[in-house]
This record gives sequence, C-alpha cells and structure tokens, in this order.
Amino acid sequence: MRKQVHILVVEDEPKLANALKDGLENEKYRVSVAASGEEGFYLLHSDQFDLLMLDVMLPGRSGFEILARLRQNGMKIPVLLLTARDSVDDRVYGLDLGADDYLVKPFAFPELLARVRALLRRGGQEKTGRMSVGDLVIDPAVRSVWRNGQLIELTAREYDLLEYLVRNQGSVVSREMLARDVWKETARATPIDNVIDVHVARLRRKIDDGFERKLVHTVRGVGFIVREEPECFR
Ligand code: CA
Repeated sequence: MRKQVHILVVEDEPKLANALKDGLENEKYRVSVAASGEEGFYLLHSDQFDLLMLDVMLPGRSGFEILARLRQNGMKIPVLLLTARDSVDDRVYGLDLGADDYLVKPFAFPELLARVRALLRRGGQEKTGRMSVGDLVIDPAVRSVWRNGQLIELTAREYDLLEYLVRNQGSVVSREMLARDVWKETARATPIDNVIDVHVARLRRKIDDGFERKLVHTVRGVGFIVREEPECFR
C-alpha cells in the first residue's frame, strides 16, 4: 500500500483551515491542522510531513518567521505560503526565505490542488535522505528519528551512532569502525570500546525497549548490526 501523503496546514482562520482540511482529505491526503506557528513548529518536529501549507499572517510569530527558522534548522520540507497580501515584495521575500511556492487569498481550490501536486512531484525527486529499518525511520536532513511514528529523542552522539548503523544496515559494524567514523578517534592508543558500548546500550534502550522486534543487535566479539530480524533469531 502506498503511504498516504501527509500535509500540515498552519492557518489561524478556523473556517479556511477546516475548508482546506475537508477539501484535501477528499483528495485522499492526510491532513493535520495547526492554528499558530508555535503549534505548527511543534507538530513538524513530532510527526512526518510531506508538505507544509503556511499562512503568513498568524498570531504570534508570522509565517515568514516560521519559514526562516525551518530553513535555518535545515528542514527541507516543501512549503506553500498562503497570504492575503498580494505584493511583489512579499512574494519575493517569501521565496527568498525558502518558500517553494506562493498562493494569494482568495484562491480557487483547484489551483491550490495543482500547486500541491506540483510541489509533491518536485519534493519526491529531491527527497532521498530518509532511511528506514522496519518501522524505524531516520531523517538526516533534520537529524530526527521515529519508531512506529513516535519521535525518539536522541543525543547528538546517539543520533550519529544510529545513522551510521542504519547506513550500514545488514552489515556488521565493528567498534574500530565506530571509533574511527563516529568518534573520529584515530589513535588506537586510547581504546574507547567501553565508551562505545555504553552509548550502544543507551541507544538500544531508546530504540528497542517496549518493541517486539529488536533492531540493534550485538555480534559477540565483532561489533554491532542493525537489522530487522524475526523473533526466533534474536
Ligand atoms: Ca491568518
């Protein structure tokens, strides 16, 4: 089954927000709505989205500010700005901040749909970064990790370690490789095997605890491997 495209709509006018949600859901998109930039920002970091529809005039932080912060954080999600102001300056400003497209209110719904389809096509070509193992998804663009749709908080080192293991999924990764590539520790005069083991143990707790299928495995005497295994091989 194809994964449903997930759209986040950040719009403070309830009538328009509801109309967008209903209309997009009719087109088989999955839609989440936030009424403020703060709420939108929170949702963006707690779930996975394929497209952001962002109103410019919002209570609190404006859509422009939200957009600028997203791009500063390296988030590459396609962004369609919605605004009531039709000025060239605004349009240029929004695009300069990293918006992918721009729609001026009031707009016709079919036009919105056409823009959405175009952005998703474009996004699909560029979106190569995300990797998965079983129900674990990691997104290097935003250094975020989800298991079964739930965001998992990792330290910077734990994230680096996990990304390395996932990039090598299905292959055994030795402590020497981790020391060299994750810890950038080239001098083997100071072995850091204990440090690595502690981090792997902590990572395993965060990734695997409470899940039937374990993903992080120890290969005794060799190192570690990330893979999805049927229970009988654990
Ligand atoms: Ca508004």
